Amino acid sequence: MDWLRRFMYGRYGQDEFSIALILLSMIVSIICIFIPVPWINLVSLIPFGYYIFRTFSKNIAARQKENRWFLSWSMPIVRWMQNRIKMLKQRKHYRFFRCKGCGQTLRVPKGRGKIELTCPKCRTKMVKKS
Ligand SMILES: [Zn+2]
Repeated sequence: MDWLRRFMYGRYGQDEFSIALILLSMIVSIICIFIPVPWINLVSLIPFGYYIFRTFSKNIAARQKENRWFLSWSMPIVRWMQNRIKMLKQRKHYRFFRCKGCGQTLRVPKGRGKIELTCPKCRTKMVKKS
């Protein structure tokens, strides 16, 4: 394993963007199974090739810049999906409403009947059935 350590010395390695490229490559190759075009599966090698290039790249500053760019637009999407999953897990005991004033999501315990809600962010009042 010493040769591997020596080979990887000064090279960039893995980050969030490389993991996403591997996933993209896998998703594309699965989609390609359903497209009846010869050699279409080779399309999945584009993100995979870029993954290989990034992993062994010695231009660390450029790779970090790419990862920052990737995180800047992907993290809001990830956070949004994590929130949806959390809401889905809590839907048995809570109801969720969107504030008409500011768009904030409000969580209320289920089964309290008609209740008046006050948005903690903008103080908009709403009457909802929980
Ligand atoms: Zn509000």
